[in-house]
Amino acid sequence: MAGEPQADCVFCKIVSGDIPATVVRRSGRTLAFRDINPQAPTHLLVIPHVHYANAAELAAAEPEIAAELLAEAGEAARGEGLESYRLIFNTGADSGQTVFHAHVHVLGGRKLTEGLV
Ligand code: 5GP
Ligand code: ZN
Repeated sequence: MAGEPQADCVFCKIVSGDIPATVVRRSGRTLAFRDINPQAPTHLLVIPHVHYANAAELAAAEPEIAAELLAEAGEAARGEGLESYRLIFNTGADSGQTVFHAHVHVLGGRKLTEGLV
């Protein structure tokens, strides 16, 4: 069923606690934790508890959770002391998406490159 946990999904396993993560923030429907391979001094991932392949699918099916994900990304950035940060939603393999559970990257703590690609 849409949104149900997937046995082969690493982020579902982080939600269930089967894989440990450095959690920095929780809401009723989201979780924010440190990326295992940080690309900036602060690199967080914010995910919904429910499983959707990407953020657009999440937003189409569960718009309130998608809005909560964005708000939580902002709160998590604030919790890290970031005034400037970048949110990235990789969508599809050619964009670099490797984990097919909706997530937003929160990157900051240094001057980020001005180009997007
Ligand atoms: P994507 O490339 O799909 O947008 O981003 C997936 C991110 O998940 C990558 O930046 C990768 O480092 C991170 N990641 C993959 N597996 C794990 C894990 O087990 N724990 C944590 N904390 N991050 C992970
Ligand atoms: Zn999942």
